[in-house]
Amino acid sequence: MSIKQNLRNIKSSLSENVTLVAVSKTKPIPDLMEAYDAGQRIFGENKVQEMSEKWEAMPKDIEWHMIGHVQTNKVKFMAPFVSLIHGVDSLKLLEEINKQAKKNNRVIDCLLQIYIAEEESKFGLDEEELNEILNSTSLLEMKNIRIVGLMGMATFTENQTQIKKEFTHLKSIFDSFTIHNSQFTIISMGMSGDYQLAIGCGSTMVRIGSSIFGGR
Ligand SMILES: *Cc1c(COP(=O)(O)O)cnc(C)c1O
Repeated sequence: MSIKQNLRNIKSSLSENVTLVAVSKTKPIPDLMEAYDAGQRIFGENKVQEMSEKWEAMPKDIEWHMIGHVQTNKVKFMAPFVSLIHGVDSLKLLEEINKQAKKNNRVIDCLLQIYIAEEESKFGLDEEELNEILNSTSLLEMKNIRIVGLMGMATFTENQTQIKKEFTHLKSIFDSFTIHNSQFTIISMGMSGDYQLAIGCGSTMVRIGSSIFGGR
């Protein structure tokens, strides 16, 4: 099926309160333009360099989301244009994002990545580390970032019960913070293989790549 048709099918299955991030990592610009021409305006990339090249070449009404793990020394390259950074997992990284956002006269929205999977390889914070960040006094001084929610990735498994358990866990952490913080509105969870499950567990933002653009 075409990218356009894939997008249409996915969009029609999402309710209005769920935002679709089209994950275009490794895909060439003509593929992204096909999605753009079909109306898609939010794209997700996991490498700063690749995202910057695509940003330069493509229409400027696109929202670029960084969904990968971010190295501190790469923040400056995306600070002029990135609209949401999903994978923030340290105060040090937040400080750098704040610094670079300030240089660009911007406020950059961030999600804190929570570790919910059973795998060793996934990045993210546990609840205690999340609390530490949200309660730290230095956060109050960072005027050029806004923490707008949480992001998580489930274990790569066929076991639906386990995935559901992990998403539900993330949702409960999210809920415990939304009570105190009205800026907390986004819960980014769900990819091609598990987005329906994620939405069932309360996701408000899904990151879908291969079901739109084909395998990588
Ligand atoms: C690649 C990637 C996705 C999209 O994965 P698909 O299975 O292709 O939909 C979503 N989130 C993150 C963090 C990714 O790196």
